Amino acid sequence: MQLNVLTLPGDGIGTEVTREAVKVLEKTASKFGHGLKLSEGLLGGIAIHKTGTPFPDETARLALDADATLMGAVGLPEFDNMPPEKRPEKGLLGIRKILGVYANLRPVKAYPALIESSPLKNNIVEGVDMIIVRELNGGIYYGQPRGIEGSGESERGTNTMTYTRAEIARITRMAFHLARNRRKKVTSVDKSNVLETSQLWRRVVNEVAPEFPDVELEHLLVDNCAMQLILRPKQFDVVVMENMFGDILSDEGAVLAGSIGMLPSASIGEKKASGAWVGLYEPVHGSAPDIAGQNRANPLGAIGSVAAMLEYSFGLVKEAAAVNKAVEDVLNSGQVTADLKPKSKPATTSEVGDAVANAI
Ligand code: NAD
Repeated sequence: MQLNVLTLPGDGIGTEVTREAVKVLEKTASKFGHGLKLSEGLLGGIAIHKTGTPFPDETARLALDADATLMGAVGLPEFDNMPPEKRPEKGLLGIRKILGVYANLRPVKAYPALIESSPLKNNIVEGVDMIIVRELNGGIYYGQPRGIEGSGESERGTNTMTYTRAEIARITRMAFHLARNRRKKVTSVDKSNVLETSQLWRRVVNEVAPEFPDVELEHLLVDNCAMQLILRPKQFDVVVMENMFGDILSDEGAVLAGSIGMLPSASIGEKKASGAWVGLYEPVHGSAPDIAGQNRANPLGAIGSVAAMLEYSFGLVKEAAAVNKAVEDVLNSGQVTADLKPKSKPATTSEVGDAVANAI
């Protein structure tokens, strides 16, 4: 297979972890006999420096040409006081929009070697293996009307949570498709005891579910879900929810996995004619200015994003499993970065990348 991949390393540790992820992608492609065509584009602070905008037209063109995009992270402290339009993070919204990615997938897995890194008790974290599926294009982050108006005591802020049947149905189908290749259970999260959008959400999920008779469906209220993720996280397989609930609950995943540096993510759009899903893959973490340039960042979230890309955009399930297995082997060997609190001297970013590539 020919893999046509765009990389957008971005800022700070984004460049460092992307370098290691590419190393692993190159090794996997050569090991399994696939062709790899890599291109690189500018996004975020580095793009502002070089072109004056966080999301240059050339980057948009490269992303539309590629089969899949691998991103590092964006954000530089020097832009912290700039208006949103002029900040590197604006580039993120730009790339998500142009690719039309509507489902954000965050796999959360508790690796045995990292069990001590989670603040939760071992017996709660052991065996956790779930995917949180967050709707990315709708809900209260985009709904109109919005804004702040008036003054004095009557000054009022407004946001609108809104979902269409079509938006709910497509994210629901995505969740069920994923569950089919896993433990065949979907948990749909809502607040249907209070919100009309959630009542529609639950109704549409129930209507779609019979298309997947082999998959079990349960509904959970969002407040209960927040508690269950910490109390009994092993019960979850695929958990699907609207945009803001997903934004908030998916951060609980970092607690389960032991370090934010471990978490990969995949943002998926429509299926192309080739059958592959349009996809944008990135670690969950940001540009971490506090450790940038020191070769200390954990590259495993970025490397896990390569595994997600192989599986979702290219359908290369065996190759994805090989990357995940290599990550697990390296974790078991104890050769890990400082954030995972190794017993001996911490490994550098590039040492961990080399070790994973060698283990493929
Ligand atoms: P962050 O994720 O960059 O860092 C939070 C903490 O986690 C820091 O202490 C950092 O050192 C640590 N950390 C993060 N990734 C790590 C890794 N791979 N290995 C080891 N330690 C790691 O979040 P922040 O500090 O809130 O944000 C920094 C910048 O990144 C900001 O400009 C923010 O807007 C941006 N950001 C970008 C994205 C993205 O590009 N998707 C996501 C979040 C934040």
